[in-house]
Amino acid sequence: QKAQIGLIGLGVMGANLALNIAEKGFRIAVYNRTSEKTDAFVAEAGELAENIIGCSSLEELANAIEKPRPIILMVQAGEAVDQQIEALKDIIDADDIIIDAGNANFRDTRRRMEALRDSGPRFIGMGVSGGEEGARHGPSIMVGGPREAYDHIKPVLQAIAARYKGEACEAWLGSDGAGHFVKTIHNGIEYADMQMIAEIYGIMRDGAGMAPAEIGKIFERWNKGRLNSYLIEITAKVLGVTDDKTGKPIVDIIVDRAGQKGTGRWSAIESQSLGIPATAIEAAVAARSLSAMKDLRIKAEERFKIETGSIETLDDARIAMLEDALLAGKVIAYAQGFAVMTAASEEFGWDLPLAEVARIWRAGCIIRSQFLDEIASAYEAETEKTDLLMTDAFSDLISRTQGALRKTVAESAVAGLPVPALASALGHFDQFRLGRGTANLIQAQRDFFGAHSFERFDAPGAHHGNWS
Ligand code: NDP
Repeated sequence: QKAQIGLIGLGVMGANLALNIAEKGFRIAVYNRTSEKTDAFVAEAGELAENIIGCSSLEELANAIEKPRPIILMVQAGEAVDQQIEALKDIIDADDIIIDAGNANFRDTRRRMEALRDSGPRFIGMGVSGGEEGARHGPSIMVGGPREAYDHIKPVLQAIAARYKGEACEAWLGSDGAGHFVKTIHNGIEYADMQMIAEIYGIMRDGAGMAPAEIGKIFERWNKGRLNSYLIEITAKVLGVTDDKTGKPIVDIIVDRAGQKGTGRWSAIESQSLGIPATAIEAAVAARSLSAMKDLRIKAEERFKIETGSIETLDDARIAMLEDALLAGKVIAYAQGFAVMTAASEEFGWDLPLAEVARIWRAGCIIRSQFLDEIASAYEAETEKTDLLMTDAFSDLISRTQGALRKTVAESAVAGLPVPALASALGHFDQFRLGRGTANLIQAQRDFFGAHSFERFDAPGAHHGNWS
């Protein structure tokens, strides 16, 4: 009996996704460049092995699948994907479907799709989020590419995706790179969310002198409220874990250095290219970059010797303030991410369904939360695409919480506690909410040094100042 689907790349994600597919009753043919991995994978699959066909060549893989053949690529993003497409092209048919499920740059996805458009095979760019656990038991799946190719694989995606109150967290979001673009912005928002959580942790650790376990308890409490989310949940758990070797809280022995690459970085780059402010996301990417410059930071601490001030003891009211500050920062970061998607949707002609994006992020992915259900409802209630901050639900929420964000950022600044993402979010909101900004001065400067001209309030057209 032939397989209904194939998969190439039995790394962490591929192996788990293949088991998930086999478990849902689909027959799957698998292939990995290093064939020992394929053998070991089938041998360890237990009773699921009866739904798995291990293949030692691409030809064998192609022969094992029913036509039209859907083949998932779950290999390292970049060149490996191009190599696999090249190799498959000669073996499979024009109406077969290659599904790149790795973290591709959506521009590569567009290029690949364009290159295959006339000759085939059909190509789908599919963002998959949820890490190892998600791949195995239900990821969030963001699909871009030809609609009819998606329709062909939809039953499999419906079966393997995460579920939020019974609804599968998978959707076709638009043509060509739409799925990979949305995955990129998902990861950018993930960076911002994680950074803001880390900043609040920093305030509690360095400003209030709290121990990890104490901080963990607060996050645990917050996880029962408006901030309820996977990231808050795991933060609470992580802060409560002690290191086996030293008996110390594990976060205290982990080096404070994080990298930024791939999708996280691209989300900031694409926001800039589209001319959409995503400052909270950019600040989070930059904070990781600065975190990686550990040696320089140690020298700078020596040079500047600025004492970090302590902040008042965290009583219940102040803990509630930090909770609201985090909520406000989060609303602004998500609003920025959704604004970037809105602009990209126009630029690339995708017609991205924003409510649907929020819906498929409610479960399975790393930023999954109840909050996303509220975003989905907010977008459903709007007749026109608008900034999240302007929707009824979120303008109320930000109005209520912005004061807490303001106070938190102000106190942190005075105490010398770094809160770059929260401060960027606040800066964005304060500029966003004012009808009269300061770009009039920029325009005057530009006209002074480069005769760029400016608009006047009292007359149409382009004008110059009499600067001499
Ligand atoms: P792994 O490093 O675990 O596995 C990489 C896989 O790619 C292996 O099967 C490897 O084969 C294969 N591979 C690498 N280079 C080539 C090549 N030139 N030709 C053929 N096969 C190749 O990666 P992951 O499973 O973590 O990631 C896979 C994709 O999923 C990436 O795009 C990643 O960004 C994305 N992703 C990862 C997530 C995660 O949490 N890990 C979450 C969401 C997406 P071999 O065994 O022969 O080396």
